Amino acid sequence: MPTLISSDVNGYLKHLGRVKECNRSALSAEEKLVIIWGFTRGWSKAKTASMIGRSTSAIARYKNRIVHRPQIVFDDLRLYSQLGDRKWGCRICGEFMKTRTRIMRHILAHFLPIEIAKVATLRV
Ligand SMILES: [Zn+2]
Repeated sequence: MPTLISSDVNGYLKHLGRVKECNRSALSAEEKLVIIWGFTRGWSKAKTASMIGRSTSAIARYKNRIVHRPQIVFDDLRLYSQLGDRKWGCRICGEFMKTRTRIMRHILAHFLPIEIAKVATLRV
């Protein structure tokens, strides 16, 4: 798959200027993507916060929202692609699954405890 989110994240970080005010507004999709990417890499909140010029509490709030309503990551971000009738690709690791539900749960398992990923309510 040519378009893993790692390239989105790197592209965004490259364009990110040095001037960033803290906590000025709602998180943008690009910022959310970096946060998700950071979760999958095991980055500390402080590291992610400094990458995007936000406070650690902004990161914690987004994580908290995701834990309570995992569906929001799919509303906000393109984390999978459909490549065929029964072929869905994970943009985080490049793995394929046969259904949309499976790929969504697979993606959630990249950054949420498996108990949450398995039972999360998803809009498919
Ligand atoms: Zn994956």
